[in-house]
Amino acid sequence: MDWSDSTEQAEFRAQVRDVIVNRLPQRYRGAGGEGEGAGSWQADRISSDPAAKAAADEWAHALAERGWIAPHWPKEYGGAGLTPMEQFIFKQEMAQAQAPSVGGMGVSLLGPTLIVHGTEEQRAEHLPKILSGEVAWAEGYSEPGAGSDLASLQTRAIRDGDEYVINGQKIWTSGAHTADWLFALVRTDPEAPKHRGISFLMMDIKTPGLNIRPLINMAWQHGFNETFFEDVRVPVKNLVGDENRGWYVGASLLDFERSNIAGAIENRRLISDLIDHAKSDEGRGHSRLAESTGLRHEVAEAFVQTEVLFNFSFRVISMQNRGLIPNYEASTSKLFNSELVQKVARLGTRVFGLYGTLWSKEEPLSPMGAQFTRLYVTSIPRTIAAGSSEIQRNIIATRGLGLPRG
Ligand SMILES: Cc1cc2nc3c(=O)[nH]c(=O)nc-3n(C[C@H](O)[C@H](O)[C@H](O)COP(=O)(O)OP(=O)(O)OC[C@H]3O[C@@H](n4cnc5c(N)ncnc54)[C@H](O)[C@@H]3O)c2cc1C
Repeated sequence: MDWSDSTEQAEFRAQVRDVIVNRLPQRYRGAGGEGEGAGSWQADRISSDPAAKAAADEWAHALAERGWIAPHWPKEYGGAGLTPMEQFIFKQEMAQAQAPSVGGMGVSLLGPTLIVHGTEEQRAEHLPKILSGEVAWAEGYSEPGAGSDLASLQTRAIRDGDEYVINGQKIWTSGAHTADWLFALVRTDPEAPKHRGISFLMMDIKTPGLNIRPLINMAWQHGFNETFFEDVRVPVKNLVGDENRGWYVGASLLDFERSNIAGAIENRRLISDLIDHAKSDEGRGHSRLAESTGLRHEVAEAFVQTEVLFNFSFRVISMQNRGLIPNYEASTSKLFNSELVQKVARLGTRVFGLYGTLWSKEEPLSPMGAQFTRLYVTSIPRTIAAGSSEIQRNIIATRGLGLPRG
């Protein structure tokens, strides 16, 4: 299989690299890794630190000039209308540079949903504000009793004239504390079969009665929240699609990025940095690779698995490029990627023995800025978010392999 670029693809790749080299603010160079929270574009955009805010604006402008805030949206809605292969190249180069994406869930989830299911008025009101970075969105789907089985959700919306009145609770609402608007699935008909009584609503996060409470994860990061609704009144014009058909609106709200190329690049970078460091003078002092055949084998195995992940990513994108919709193939890539990053993080900590328990990035004895130790902790949710490993295995077993459902 030849994965090298065609002439056009190579030209496009050069344009993306040019923007990264010349326009990516210093603040974001080599900024990837721990993801959520401080230092992300969404948080910087409303930061009280003028340098953070300026970096967020600068990067948003550099991308907006080319329609690259929303590379996958059609041009008529302000996107770049890139082909799946161009989107893949774009994502690959951005991940390689560890550049932050701009626009968050507004770009990746809500915008594409409004383009398909929204009214002209909804599109005119919301899409430009997503593209300008003026409004950031959060996703209110999960509830304490509804995660993998999302259709069990109980947050209730009752129609009252021109408004819905919402009561209930969402959980794990990522970035709600730095977002301006929320899209949510709510129950509008409790008597209907569970998938048929759900509606999709958009609301200003500052609507009275809507309260966001932080959930601090075990790495002490504030990435997600609990969201409470007490008589929250939302205009009926903010309903997307038909009442009680929200499940189908929400189900089509798939992240366009299904290849997991960013994950493949992250894993490859971690392994190659680990190998380079182990060969350096400093690394020889820290690492146990010289004394352990078993650990050397594990590094070799992780290297092989990283290359396998690349091939999964290429498979998914080549399907999308041929107009096919990846299904269990995307699940395979998601499952393999999220489990591999945990494995690589664990391996990295073991390579450094007791030095691998140091947490502080600034501590001079922390190997490689403690990145493996920190990733060991921060990668744990990766096998839960966006569909747990068990759910991915269920999809692969039934839709992919045709095995009977339990
Ligand atoms: C970092 C992170 C960010 C998130 N961000 C958001 C967000 O912005 N908005 C939002 O709405 N939600 C968000 N979520 C929530 C996420 O969608 C849910 O955590 C996920 O769907 C799993 O649901 P749950 O936590 O309720 O676990 P459960 O569904 O209760 O699962 C518990 C365990 O049971 C297993 N299990 C469940 N059902 C089956 C089955 N049928 N077969 C086999 N095993 C099963 C699961 O794999 C898991 O191990 C986020 C989660 C994380 C970790």
